[in-house]
Amino acid sequence: MRDHQTTHLDPRAPLVLDTRDLPRSPGAMRALERTVPAPADLGLELIRVPEGSPLTLAVTMQSVSEGVLVSATVTGDLVGECGRCLRDLTDHLDVSFQQLYAYEGNAMFEAVPGHEDESPEEDEVGRMQGDLIDLEPELRDAVVLALPVNPICRPDCPGLCPECGEPWDELPADHNHEQADPRWAALNQLKEP
Ligand SMILES: [Zn+2]
Ligand SMILES: [Zn+2]
Repeated sequence: MRDHQTTHLDPRAPLVLDTRDLPRSPGAMRALERTVPAPADLGLELIRVPEGSPLTLAVTMQSVSEGVLVSATVTGDLVGECGRCLRDLTDHLDVSFQQLYAYEGNAMFEAVPGHEDESPEEDEVGRMQGDLIDLEPELRDAVVLALPVNPICRPDCPGLCPECGEPWDELPADHNHEQADPRWAALNQLKEP
């Protein structure tokens, strides 16, 4: 994991929000929409946003007394593998999240040194770096939470034939292995009178 405390944010980075245009008076709002290339490793093992594919962010920033409340909706394409039949699948990502980013130096959300574990706000509140907000950690969390651990190509995907490992969808309706397997044929012959 990257250490966001010591990372210097680039205001032009795709997932960094610049709040300089947002007045620091509670209630002030700014909305923006941008399409950015998806960062690497955005997703889970079986389903993910392809790196570099377009990710569209619709963001509302609202000044509150402690900082900036960000509401974001992220849409994009997903590619993955069906957990049952292992064939490629595509899907659409549409996830929303909301996060409060405290102004730098806002004592209300500073963890007490030596008692970091006891600060329940630590996870719930992001921290601004000057006028900048790094949206990436929360965006990653929201996307990963929204994705299925075991994606399936369709709700009634029948999966694979356990004998030959081929997807049932690609096998003829009468597919079975009883006739084709000589051991079964021999057994059947034994049963005959
Ligand atoms: Zn499937
Ligand atoms: Zn089979």
